[in-house]
Amino acid sequence: MTWSNWAGNQVMEPARVLRPTTVDEIAAAVKQAAADGLTVKPIGSGHSFTAIGLTDGVLLDLSGYDRLLSADAGTGLVTVEAGLTLHRLNALLHEHGLGLTNMGDVDAQTVSGAVSTGTHGTGRDSAGFAAQIAGLEIVLADGSVVQCSRTERPELFDVARVGLGALGVLSTVTFQAEKAFTLVADERPMPLDEVLDGFFDLVRDNEHFEFYWFPHTEVALTKRNNRTDEPVSPLSKARAFVDDELLSNGLFELTCRLGNRMPAIIPKLNRAASTALTARTYRDVAPKVFVSSRRVRFREMEYAIPRAELPAVFAELRTLPERIGEPVSFPVEVRVAPPDDVPLSTGSGRESAYVAVHMYKGTPYDRYFTAVERLFQQVEGRPHWGKLHTLDASVLRTRYPRFDDFVAVRNRVDPERRFGNAYLERVLGG
Ligand SMILES: Cc1cc2nc3c(=O)[nH]c(=O)nc-3n(C[C@H](O)[C@H](O)[C@H](O)COP(=O)(O)OP(=O)(O)OC[C@H]3O[C@@H](n4cnc5c(N)ncnc54)[C@H](O)[C@@H]3O)c2cc1C
Repeated sequence: MTWSNWAGNQVMEPARVLRPTTVDEIAAAVKQAAADGLTVKPIGSGHSFTAIGLTDGVLLDLSGYDRLLSADAGTGLVTVEAGLTLHRLNALLHEHGLGLTNMGDVDAQTVSGAVSTGTHGTGRDSAGFAAQIAGLEIVLADGSVVQCSRTERPELFDVARVGLGALGVLSTVTFQAEKAFTLVADERPMPLDEVLDGFFDLVRDNEHFEFYWFPHTEVALTKRNNRTDEPVSPLSKARAFVDDELLSNGLFELTCRLGNRMPAIIPKLNRAASTALTARTYRDVAPKVFVSSRRVRFREMEYAIPRAELPAVFAELRTLPERIGEPVSFPVEVRVAPPDDVPLSTGSGRESAYVAVHMYKGTPYDRYFTAVERLFQQVEGRPHWGKLHTLDASVLRTRYPRFDDFVAVRNRVDPERRFGNAYLERVLGG
């Protein structure tokens, strides 16, 4: 069987594909792989752009291991099986009057895939998935099944909240959810200069601020999401269809294809698209505000940089497509996160701004991503583990003060690298 990821840039042919539906079956698969001298890799929805999920050994497809195990509306603690998608998780939480504090901009990922790569959204006070985890159950390399939390095996819990799939197979995830809430969304185009000049105020004044800049233009689409006690007032179906399906997906796909064939017209297309942007506000349950539909396929690189560096980095970035003569149709996305305490979280111990660059699926991205990555390197950037980058352990060790804490736990729980692959060897060392 040949497997490929969502973006189509990673392919593998595992020796075996298994679809366990119980934790005992997962443990048995790990033990059997060890007996056969094979590596093991669970895979989620394939939404990572890097080779992080590849194996030539045993591939565990956890899509049939996706039940809600418990939900306590009082404490907000919710335990689910690892293969559950975020989409289903949100629906199940909603049924219990609960919701996640923060999330990224799509919900196709599995909970374990999202957790393993440090998936995040944007938040002034609330960090990524890792910060919302209260407990994990993990199948280790010897086939044992262990629980961990802040009080039970705390050294394992500490690092496994962003574990890169290097420590074992996550079998269940316990989230610290909260009472479901409504967000008021305010989305509007603004001059890019105004956004950059006011960036720190915009972050301070909003619970969830982000912006998208359209290369070759002076315009950014800003998004401010804040909690409200007002009743929901969603977008009309027609407006949601025109904005989110037609303009953001259908028409965007066509302009990307056109730009792919005739790169010289991309700046013109972007300028036309940026003048078509209009303001909108609506109120809806949080997951519907956090999540957008993303059907146009692309390749992505995203780095967390120290937040204070954002204006200087962006000043360079905004002139880059012209300087390297590379027209870029996809917007650059900027988000933020507060510091967290997870060793390999991109937000570990520092206030971050996330800067993400994208290129349409068929378009070569090397020159653009290489030039952008150079900018991120100058400010000690940390790459998203699931998005394209070229760093290896020698550099990453200098970016994460607690890198060796992670490696020490990995050496203890997986000395034979049952869960290893080439990507992990590169980013963590052998
Ligand atoms: C359209 C799109 C939008 C995105 N938006 C965001 C965003 O807003 N914010 C953000 O931070 N990222 C975003 N990403 C990146 C994405 O969230 C991550 O790459 C995430 O890991 C994908 O989850 P998945 O279920 O597809 O995992 P996969 O890509 O299938 O796997 C990722 C890793 O997790 C490991 N893994 C999976 N299950 C387990 C398990 N049970 N135990 C141990 N390891 C496991 C895999 O082995 C692999 O190493 C986006 C990606 C795409 C394509």
